[in-house]
Amino acid sequence: MIITRKEINRYNSIIGNIKKDNVLVDIHVHPFDLFTENMNYICRTKGIYSNCEEQYSPPFITAMDVNTSKQKQVMLKVFTSSELGNGKVFKSIDFTGSDVLKDYMKLCNLDRSVLLPVAIDDESNRKQMKMLNEMFGSNPMYYLGYSIPPEIPFDLIYKHLFKIMENQTITILKIHPGINKLDLSSREGLNHINAILSSSGKLKIPCIIHGGKTQNSDGSINDFSSIDHLSNIDWSITSEKVIIAHCGAFLSDLYQFDNSILPSLKKLLNRYSNLMVDTSGLDTDILDSLFRNIDSSRIIFGSDALYFSQWKTITKILYTLENLQMSIGDIFLEISSDNPLKKILKEK
Ligand SMILES: [Zn+2]
Repeated sequence: MIITRKEINRYNSIIGNIKKDNVLVDIHVHPFDLFTENMNYICRTKGIYSNCEEQYSPPFITAMDVNTSKQKQVMLKVFTSSELGNGKVFKSIDFTGSDVLKDYMKLCNLDRSVLLPVAIDDESNRKQMKMLNEMFGSNPMYYLGYSIPPEIPFDLIYKHLFKIMENQTITILKIHPGINKLDLSSREGLNHINAILSSSGKLKIPCIIHGGKTQNSDGSINDFSSIDHLSNIDWSITSEKVIIAHCGAFLSDLYQFDNSILPSLKKLLNRYSNLMVDTSGLDTDILDSLFRNIDSSRIIFGSDALYFSQWKTITKILYTLENLQMSIGDIFLEISSDNPLKKILKEK
């Protein structure tokens, strides 16, 4: 199913209308490639950074195919770059910075983005936080997340975080067991995540955790963040909200979602009132199942930009809601404004 530019502009005017009296937020944005060896960004002009020689040109809206198999190809292309050669499956994000992201946000009427770094180790964490502050730190359009480096011993996590939060404003903790190779079924993995959750409660900071499969840098897949692993965790250790990103379905298909992920997700959401899910990285068929099965009070809008354009994720969501004959404006307002601002972020 091709959505024409005219249709996308109609969706945009619906968003434009609800935006008038409201602030619209994207909870799930990666300002950098998750594999930070590609992070040698240079400031070209104010607000625009790049790690390639090409000239920056602002993004624009095109017609888009929301057919699920087409989306799967898009997804694979996003995470694969032939120039990188064997063993390097991740495409780098060539352009980033406050003006680059602003260009994407302007296309679909978004006001704020929550930026999620993923620490591979202590060194990459320091590099990312330095760049995050330099590129976005003083701009009120952006909230900064933080990711705890995996080598911090679990009994020092609270101390580490306390020190970080003394020196800068952090809005949310990003947890990525797949990239950090954190085995949540092992004692070590549980100690680590329990320490993060208990620090989240003490320091009053919400969390967002990758949910679903993870592609390793050699192209293989790991399931450290699968719904089965997430189901082993006591989420009530923190009283703060915890968002399960991608509804626990990253790189999964509708059959897997409906038959194994959704039943476990429903159990988790029923058991823990502080859990929510986000819409990032999902195709229209899974979005359809999500909106039919999970109350919108538990759903948050996230796009997984800069890997995916925010307007594309919004198009998929509005297309799905319209097909379901649900109230597009009301639900999008709830998931992109009411839920993030009242439940997750402290309004600026
Ligand atoms: Zn992500």
